[in-house]
Amino acid sequence: MTSDRSAEIRVSEIFGPTIQGEGVLIGLPTVFVRTGGCDYRCSWCDSLHAVDSRYRDEWRAMSAEEVWREITRLSGGKSVMVSLSGGNPAIQPLGELIARGHSEGYRFALETQGSVARAWFADLDVLVLSPKPPSSSMETDWQAFDACLRMSEGRPQTVLKIVIFDEADYAYARATAERYPHLPVYLQPGNHTPPPADDDDATIDIDGVMERMRWLVAKITEDRWFEARVLPQLHVLLWGNKRGV
Ligand code: SF4
Repeated sequence: MTSDRSAEIRVSEIFGPTIQGEGVLIGLPTVFVRTGGCDYRCSWCDSLHAVDSRYRDEWRAMSAEEVWREITRLSGGKSVMVSLSGGNPAIQPLGELIARGHSEGYRFALETQGSVARAWFADLDVLVLSPKPPSSSMETDWQAFDACLRMSEGRPQTVLKIVIFDEADYAYARATAERYPHLPVYLQPGNHTPPPADDDDATIDIDGVMERMRWLVAKITEDRWFEARVLPQLHVLLWGNKRGV
């Protein structure tokens, strides 16, 4: 029997359960499937091990069934939220995995920058669209972003999450929220420190993150932007940039 390699999922790591550290599902026990590869290269990417081709040897091509078996092993067979992240998970064939998990009562959230729309977005439970602000050095393709929204229309809970480092990022977030007033918006102070070379060196500039957090809270309150929610990355506060937690 020949295997359909195009249906294989490129996986950087599968880990958990741990808590979701950011956004709309913060604090919820979650198993993470981090896919390998991204069509972006943000200047401050904190997941380079799932983006940079230097790490390609660590990535594994797995069938949906193999990924599913690992999820159920980690969760002890008890249904749990599964977060599909990356890299950009939208460039992977994840529809079969989502259908498999749903049949057993698992739920799926996916986070993407919104550069690639997939029909199976409609099958997700939560879609986090995280367009990248100017400090990332990336430019948002709003047509592609709108296509992602069309794919998910009326189906998964869909939210915006925007990382903020500076005034230009803040202005971008405001403009994006005005463009999509029906979407809840989560703002997250950026974390500048590059990922650690090894798992024992996961320190970050907590003071810098906290300072940006306070600045962001002051900004939204001064601007009377009462629809925005400001959240830090809880896992970064707890574990730094350590992988697999
Ligand atoms: Fe990293 Fe996300 Fe940017 Fe891709 S889109 S380079 S994973 S921050």
